[in-house]
Amino acid sequence: MTNTEPGIVQGLQLLQNEFAHQLPDKLKQLETTWNKIEGGNLSLLSDLHRQAHSFTGSGATFGFIELSRAARLLEQALQSLLDTGTAPGEAQYSHISKLLQQVHESAKLPPSAEMINTFGTENTPSQEQLKPDDARLIYLIEDDTLLAEHLATQINHFGYTVHIFSHTENAREHIQQKMPAAIIADISFAEGEKAGIESMLTLRQEGYALPALIFISSRKDFLTRLEAIRAGGMAYFGKPVDIGGLIDKLDLLTSNAQPEPFRVLVVENSATLAEVYAKTLGQAGMVTRRVTDPMQVMEALDDFSPELILMDINMPGANGEEVAQVLRQQEIHDSVPIVFLSGETDKDRQLVAMSHGGDDFLVKPIQADHLISSVGSRIERYRVLRNFMIRDSLTGLLNHTKIKEQLSIEIERAKRQERPLSFAMIDLDHFKNVNDTYGHPVGDKVLKSLARLLQQRLRKVDVIGRYGGEEFAVILTDTSGPDAVRTLDGIRKDLAEIRQHGENAEFSVTFSCGVASYPDFATPEAINNAADKALYRAKHDGRNRVVLVACKPK
Ligand code: GH3
Ligand code: MG
Ligand code: MG
Repeated sequence: MTNTEPGIVQGLQLLQNEFAHQLPDKLKQLETTWNKIEGGNLSLLSDLHRQAHSFTGSGATFGFIELSRAARLLEQALQSLLDTGTAPGEAQYSHISKLLQQVHESAKLPPSAEMINTFGTENTPSQEQLKPDDARLIYLIEDDTLLAEHLATQINHFGYTVHIFSHTENAREHIQQKMPAAIIADISFAEGEKAGIESMLTLRQEGYALPALIFISSRKDFLTRLEAIRAGGMAYFGKPVDIGGLIDKLDLLTSNAQPEPFRVLVVENSATLAEVYAKTLGQAGMVTRRVTDPMQVMEALDDFSPELILMDINMPGANGEEVAQVLRQQEIHDSVPIVFLSGETDKDRQLVAMSHGGDDFLVKPIQADHLISSVGSRIERYRVLRNFMIRDSLTGLLNHTKIKEQLSIEIERAKRQERPLSFAMIDLDHFKNVNDTYGHPVGDKVLKSLARLLQQRLRKVDVIGRYGGEEFAVILTDTSGPDAVRTLDGIRKDLAEIRQHGENAEFSVTFSCGVASYPDFATPEAINNAADKALYRAKHDGRNRVVLVACKPK
């Protein structure tokens, strides 16, 4: 489970070391500020508060848990002083002095070793991550540079490009020039203890429409949260930031969730009529494919994967009822709705057509708006039902049955197009330990984070499924074995570097992966077995690796 690579461990240590290295200076600053306050400069109380606040957040992030705890106590004491607005009395001076002492003491404690073993920071952005993409551009406004770098590294793993700003002013100028997909802003800065919120508010008042706005802060009081909302904050994370939760929010807020257009297959022997239907549906934003020869329906189904078939009844060669029967006898196609179109007004014939697997019957000539609304509402219902049928409820990925079905379809397509295809089986390493150590719900979160990573790193044409338990399967279309291995190995490294959050601890997980490809293996069973064997090899050879089966033994 903590089988991370040496590079990752070194990466963590670098950051942790750097934090440790800066610690004496920061503590000295804290001391200096305090001395000035004791000397009567009460205006520095808020500075001291800000410094304590920074220890709270970054201490926890870099494994200095005790330091973070002590700093929080100091921060809280200073906050209540600031809130009352009165000069501290003797008792308060001595209380704060004690708390400061505790901060100094706890800074001497070594950072948590657990963190060293489990969190990676090695930053090896892949090609995709280097591509500038405004839809994935994130501005991170955070004056704690170490924390900022750490967050950025983690967010990068999920395919976002992060620009860090350590001053609100600088960030504001950039926002005015180029709007990112999301802004993640700290709240307290040297410019002001709520400068993060204020700068966003100012931008809004200047008329800028801000994108997804997320605040991160160690302030957890109601008033600050309220002010954050008033500044347009759509989410609020306390420090240390739960990365998984933050990515979920980013995904949610930055996907402009354009629903996929409805896909309709028009089967109609009259080319003119087929075109009329296709155009009508096309005007309503649907995507259509036309087939004028019923014999070609099967191929169109595989290639186009329609969500509804609009089918003429009277066609030469095979009539619509017959075509429907043929389709309904194949499991893969037995749930696509079929809507018959016919000049037929005979009620009996309509009933027969329906009993052969039709879902609806529209009588020609049919009005455009009626056609659009019948087709649209059928597809909407179909999508809902289908989601239950083919998707795994935890991860939203395709379920076991569906991915196997899809494997048959894709292999057929690969054969027709004479292109390669790869199939990968992925199994989390020692996942039982995750459940045993952190609990089942945390295990579920890990499964979701892998699902999300796969969705973000693979292409839209790849097919991703949850094979069962902690096992996933991926079909990489038009991809050779070695290419598939490269992609999956990148994902493997990324996963190992993502910090998973248990209740009181952070850890990382790895996976093992077996890959087999077409044409080395030419049937779904053969490719599946080969990938399974390769996975077994990967486990056997020490886990946290991707193994390719080169070729079928002759
Ligand atoms: P290996 O590296 O050999 O794969 O070890 P492993 O512990 O991952 O494998 P094993 O098959 O022994 O254990 C799989 C574990 O996955 C056991 C089961 O509790 C857990 N698991 C399966 N499905 C789920 C799920 O939906 N949620 C959670 N949290 N755990 C699951
Ligand atoms: Mg496993
Ligand atoms: Mg297993």
